[in-house]
Amino acid sequence: MVLAYEYSGALYINLTNLCTNKCAFCIREHDDGIYSEEPLWLEREPTREEVLAAAEAMTPKRFREIVFCGYGEPTCRLHDMLWLCRRFREIAPGVPIRLNTNGHANLIFGEDVTPLFEGLFDVVSVSMNAADSDRYNRVCHPRFGDDTFPAVLKFIRDIQRHVPEVIVTVVRGSIPDADIPRCADLAKELNAKFRVREYI
Ligand code: SF4
Repeated sequence: MVLAYEYSGALYINLTNLCTNKCAFCIREHDDGIYSEEPLWLEREPTREEVLAAAEAMTPKRFREIVFCGYGEPTCRLHDMLWLCRRFREIAPGVPIRLNTNGHANLIFGEDVTPLFEGLFDVVSVSMNAADSDRYNRVCHPRFGDDTFPAVLKFIRDIQRHVPEVIVTVVRGSIPDADIPRCADLAKELNAKFRVREYI
């Protein structure tokens, strides 16, 4: 299983297959992997110790960044992810840690878990993916239904109290181009940075 891999000078951590969305544009729907040459689909959920061992074998302190990103949604394994962050702070001090997330963590755990991120992440990138709930539901097919989009917006607000940099993203091509400025406005209202990702 590929639990850690290098891409563009960063160490990517592949913690889980689990996800609470089923996005139309998701690489999982079309391919085994994206940045790794090996398939990223995990034959089973790895233990956190296995993930740490795979990362340690790659010497995390030599990377410009450590990134929790897929193959599923990392916050589905929130407590294991936070445990790994603490280890990375010890073995790779000064290396920034980023999370790429769908922003569902508070829905998954039924409470505001954003204070747990304090001191463990430098950047959180949240996939907003739409400018309103209807479009979000059509693009992402979230497990939590109509509650999801408002909860993602709330997560974006809440996480900013605990992480220095928060970036809101949309994928070009997954929504009408006319919606992109609406998403940018929404990100501005939420006081977050905004980035358009290219569909791969
Ligand atoms: S949230 Fe991310 S991992 Fe989950 S289905 Fe959407 S693109 Fe795929």
